[in-house]
Amino acid sequence: MEGWVSMPKVELHAHLNGSVRDSTLLELARVLGEKGVIVFSDVEHVILKNERSLTEVFRLFDLIHILTTDHKIITRITKEVIEDFASENVVYLELRTTPKKNDSIGMSKRSYLEAVLEGIKAVNTVDVAFRPHNADVSNVKRSSLINDTCNGSTRKKIYVRLLLSIDRRETTEAAMETVKLALEMRNLGVVGIDLSGNPIVGEWMTFFPALKFAREQGLYITLHCGEVPNPKEIRAMLDLLPQRIGHACCFEEEEWKRLKSLNIPVEICLTSNIRTNSVRSIEVHHFADLYNSKHPLVICTDDSGVFSTSVSKEYNLAASAFGLGRREIFQLARNAIEYIFADDEVKRELKEIFNSAELDQ
Ligand code: 5GP
Repeated sequence: MEGWVSMPKVELHAHLNGSVRDSTLLELARVLGEKGVIVFSDVEHVILKNERSLTEVFRLFDLIHILTTDHKIITRITKEVIEDFASENVVYLELRTTPKKNDSIGMSKRSYLEAVLEGIKAVNTVDVAFRPHNADVSNVKRSSLINDTCNGSTRKKIYVRLLLSIDRRETTEAAMETVKLALEMRNLGVVGIDLSGNPIVGEWMTFFPALKFAREQGLYITLHCGEVPNPKEIRAMLDLLPQRIGHACCFEEEEWKRLKSLNIPVEICLTSNIRTNSVRSIEVHHFADLYNSKHPLVICTDDSGVFSTSVSKEYNLAASAFGLGRREIFQLARNAIEYIFADDEVKRELKEIFNSAELDQ
């Protein structure tokens, strides 16, 4: 695994609350157990279980959300998740999360996002560059930029950008609130919108107005698309022309044709797809077809905590399952630079990082 860890990597599909360390979840569960909010022994095995159906995964997310409720914990998990990705040489991370409102603890979508931004600033094992080069910071508190280090520092650096997720359980109004928040927070590294959540819940037309508005306003869009068979929704999603989609597990021939003709990059999450049975086995995974037809794709983790994986493990799995060598995987990682939601200056700097690492491959 060490060989994959040292390679520079780009992670474009990682959910914050799905990427929390097991040790942190257990610690949080123990505290809530002591307070009598949950029964620790009931949740311990749920956290540590490895094989889960898609339905069980969404039940686990409900539990994780109980454990990570307050602002301080959101800040803590954001810091830890970024440090974990940086520790395995992820040089560019797009982290996505659903801004949550919880009146009982005074949490609004905005204060949730502010807690995430605090977490980015709290990272101390690596420098974090999270502000776009062209951001107008004249009206942003200087303290909010404290860990933004595009300043020639020689310390190890990770670029972080945020995607705000709309949960499929949300109303049109809630989805619109998330998009407006993303627009307001553009100067602080929010670059786009994701649609996620249980794929058998919610109707496309509920989210469409907010997604269309986001697109019109120039936010990048990525959609969880085709996790379950739903040709009508897949068609509507592709018609929106998102800049990327995630998963694409249940596409039929017509849908593949359209996706390929549009050349929309696909975020591939191998372990997640297999564990949740969205794809029957790694042998029949659509990675092979997309790779062979040179369709743009990027290997991602989805939920490194929930699926006990890491970007290095996903690269290793792709290499062994599809007979790819180090050079091919390196090339895939480098290609991903073209699909990131960041400006040309970031792309240029990332290409430099990959160019200098290429000599070691
Ligand atoms: P959060 O947005 O709370 O930081 O991250 C967890 C959330 O991401 C889950 O509640 C769910 O809405 C979304 N999510 C994580 N993994 C998946 C996945 O594989 N498929 C879909 N559709 N949504 C996911």
